[in-house]
Amino acid sequence: MMFHTTNSPLDFKPCEDECRYKGPRDPSDSLCIKCGMTEAEKAEWLSMGFEERYMLSYEVGDRMQCAWMLWEIMEEPTLQ
Ligand SMILES: [Zn+2]
Repeated sequence: MMFHTTNSPLDFKPCEDECRYKGPRDPSDSLCIKCGMTEAEKAEWLSMGFEERYMLSYEVGDRMQCAWMLWEIMEEPTLQ
């Protein structure tokens, strides 16, 4: 399994370096495969307060679990 989740949402951070995207990159839709954020969210993160970051970290965590499941289905993982 390749779920990319963090145990504590408080430790969650967007990538410090460049995010990595699968396929074409759309600032409002494409999710980074490392941090699970869109480019727009990553930009907003910088100006967010603690509570907003906390909420977003939960949302992104859920989103990444779904995304990984879809990616694994669509891309025929080597390990079953
Ligand atoms: Zn990222």
